[in-house]
Amino acid sequence: MTNLHDLAVLGSGPAALAVASACVQRGASVLLIAPEPHAAWLPNYCLWADEVPVALQDLTEQFWPRAAVATTLARRSLDRSYVKLDTFALQQHFWDAFRGGSVGVVPKRAVRLEHQPSSTTVHTEDGTEHRVRVVIDASGAGTPFVRRVHARPPAYQTAYGLLLDAPQHRFDSSQLVLMDFRPGPTASLEPPSFLYVLPLDDGRLFLEETSLARRPAMSMGTLRERLETRLTSLGLARSRRIGQERCSIAMGLGLPAPVQSLVPFGAAAGMVHPASGYLMAHVLRKAAPLAESILDGLDSGGVDDALAAGNATLWPRAQRRIWEIYGFGLEALVGMNASEVNRFFDSFFQLSVDEWSGFLGGNLSPSRLGAVMTNLFRGLPPSVRWHLVRTGLLAGVAPLARSVLQPGVG
Ligand SMILES: Cc1cc2nc3c(=O)[nH]c(=O)nc-3n(C[C@H](O)[C@H](O)[C@H](O)COP(=O)(O)OP(=O)(O)OC[C@H]3O[C@@H](n4cnc5c(N)ncnc54)[C@H](O)[C@@H]3O)c2cc1C
Repeated sequence: MTNLHDLAVLGSGPAALAVASACVQRGASVLLIAPEPHAAWLPNYCLWADEVPVALQDLTEQFWPRAAVATTLARRSLDRSYVKLDTFALQQHFWDAFRGGSVGVVPKRAVRLEHQPSSTTVHTEDGTEHRVRVVIDASGAGTPFVRRVHARPPAYQTAYGLLLDAPQHRFDSSQLVLMDFRPGPTASLEPPSFLYVLPLDDGRLFLEETSLARRPAMSMGTLRERLETRLTSLGLARSRRIGQERCSIAMGLGLPAPVQSLVPFGAAAGMVHPASGYLMAHVLRKAAPLAESILDGLDSGGVDDALAAGNATLWPRAQRRIWEIYGFGLEALVGMNASEVNRFFDSFFQLSVDEWSGFLGGNLSPSRLGAVMTNLFRGLPPSVRWHLVRTGLLAGVAPLARSVLQPGVG
């Protein structure tokens, strides 16, 4: 048994390192428990530029002033900038923040948590026990430790991507392609998938075939085949391949129970945006307030106060409501065919920048989100409207459907 620490943080992904470093900077003693604490983060983490916290703005690798979206109906250029994080620098930034603080690193997997009234014992795979006051579980979507309000089967966003050395490519380097739903020449339309393209400096090009949300997941083989077809039609089949990404993101995990003996964070906490699969903006923005509320709780009232404060900071009632509404959006997307998806996104990106940004950001109040969804609904063709209504009824979320069908929608 080791000394009593204030906190154990499970995991060493972005959520774990962001919250652990915020806790250490506030003077807490932290045990970071993860099987491979220093493993490099491999995904190409991207987000909208205006979502990057000021303190991290130097840690981006690429900036695009604009984003392009294409459907079979129209091509649009979006007036909002997007960035790729420098994952190596970000990871290093969090490790640097541990310097001079009280941090223990346990390079093992947590296998069992034993909760006592004022502490928790974390059992790791080597049989060692670690006693801490509060556990923050940032061990990813597969965590067995988090209790959820509704344990729903997740949908999956899957994607297959290739990094090419392709200085001759013809993509406009000033804009990334957020979604191109137009199918490649011989690729099948169903189920729908889209191309995501990051033109990088120095002639590198990252292209990824993405299935937005499917249950069961679209297979990696299908995505790979579609990407290969696109590469051929773009004249890039022979470009040198310098990297590969296989992406699988669980979407629509049930919300964590509001009262529980730990504080989940990141993908473990169901924070992945249920309708887009994005998470980084939420994690980077919420790590410091979460650390602060837990440590204030520990200082003022002890473990129970810290757990209550942490969980309430992450999931205030309004945020829970909007996540439930997004759950409806996810169910609708999962069941859409290619024609419906194209019409849906064509209408979605005709909303004002504030509206679609607010929807994707996940920070709107429930009433504002309802208003945006009502506006979107008004602009959709009847077939897609009917799909949304049917989804609401079938998924047993009629109250949510009603929340977007506000009076005056004709
Ligand atoms: C390929 C890919 C690309 C993505 N791109 C983006 C993007 O561009 N923008 C965006 O916003 N989101 C993106 N996401 C979604 C999301 O941001 C990532 O999934 C992100 O990595 C989740 O962070 P996390 O720290 O919560 O969990 P993870 O990154 O999954 O980290 C979990 C950590 O917990 C550890 N762990 C697992 N089990 C245990 C255990 N029992 N005990 C202790 N530790 C354990 C793991 O080793 C790991 O360190 C992407 C996801 C993927 C897979």
